[in-house]
Amino acid sequence: MFGTNTTWHGKPYYSLDAYLKNRYGHKCYKIAINAGMTCPNRDGTLDTRGCIFCSAGGSGDFAATGDSITTQLEQGKRLFGDKNIGEHYIAYFQAYTNTYAPVGYLRHIYTEALSHPEVCGISIATRPDCLGNEVLNLLEELQDAFPDKFLWIELGLQTIHEETASYIRRGYPLSCFEEAVKGLAARNIPYIVHVILGLPGETPNMIYRTIQYLNHLHPFGIKLQLLHILEGTDLADEYRAAKIRTYDKEEYLDILIKCLEYLSSDIIVHRLTGDGPKDILLAPRWSLNKRDVLNSLHQQMKLTNAYQGRLFHATGSIDTL
Ligand code: SF4
Repeated sequence: MFGTNTTWHGKPYYSLDAYLKNRYGHKCYKIAINAGMTCPNRDGTLDTRGCIFCSAGGSGDFAATGDSITTQLEQGKRLFGDKNIGEHYIAYFQAYTNTYAPVGYLRHIYTEALSHPEVCGISIATRPDCLGNEVLNLLEELQDAFPDKFLWIELGLQTIHEETASYIRRGYPLSCFEEAVKGLAARNIPYIVHVILGLPGETPNMIYRTIQYLNHLHPFGIKLQLLHILEGTDLADEYRAAKIRTYDKEEYLDILIKCLEYLSSDIIVHRLTGDGPKDILLAPRWSLNKRDVLNSLHQQMKLTNAYQGRLFHATGSIDTL
């Protein structure tokens, strides 16, 4: 049935690739940027330990480093090789909290990225408690200044459940997230929500409730990320002490497919696995074979006639699960 949805380009869900092909006619490549930020959950403002799963690289372990945004973009482009010359790139401000700096500095780095002729847009990963009015006004100003380019915000919500949020030391309540998305929606700034599947203590139904909750808010996109245990994190200590476990592949695929089926069919899926760096990924190691995970996912969805939105009910209550 999903095959009739030509905007999905043959996949059983609305992928970011499909969205970009619809908009630009071809693939766009993400270049991770490290803009030298820190995070209130690491610099002592809220905590010094960071979220329990966060690596020393501030969840930006693939981010390039360099003197300027332009230098990092050029370095990032070279990683894709010659075949992609002339294509579009997305500057992904990934490492740490990318709105956690004086507005003058933020204006400078975002403008530099948006002014690059091959950059079609920027995506800014941040926390909802770092999106005050001054920052929101800047984002709106930049949207107006670069009408041909896009500006997305990525928010690491991970879960709607307060007990899990406190366990992972997220450092803000759900009400803070709601306030931030209200501000973004009022300014028509598209946002992408990160959700982690497999957080300790969460049942599959708790995860589906997070998905149903997001359906009500209706973000532009979602990243469904498998819980990764990275070396050097407090989560790694818990894993080694056998206090927590991670999903096996079959379990993950079952839950992931259910999430996609509950998800509204027009929310763009930006990620379906995780991007744990090989050298520090403690578990689950099977996730390193991304191609195999995605092939298995597509195969299983095909076999079971599953597709994004199959179980979506616009009026469905988040308490029905
Ligand atoms: S908010 Fe992001 S950068 Fe900060 S500690 Fe948590 S995961 Fe790491």
